[in-house]
Amino acid sequence: MVCGSCGSRPPDGAEGAARLDWVRGVERGRPVWTCPDCSRRYLRSIEGKLDSQWW
Ligand SMILES: [Zn+2]
Repeated sequence: MVCGSCGSRPPDGAEGAARLDWVRGVERGRPVWTCPDCSRRYLRSIEGKLDSQWW
């Protein structure tokens, strides 16, 4: 389990808890994980795009 954006991994023994925090996506049929930090960053950039489109 590795973040597809920054390459970080959950701490040893915390994968079970990380699965709840990490975002799971699918890219070309393979599961892709995104760590909470990166998903937050993406969320902001998605919101930014929506904003600029909207206004
Ligand atoms: Zn990350």
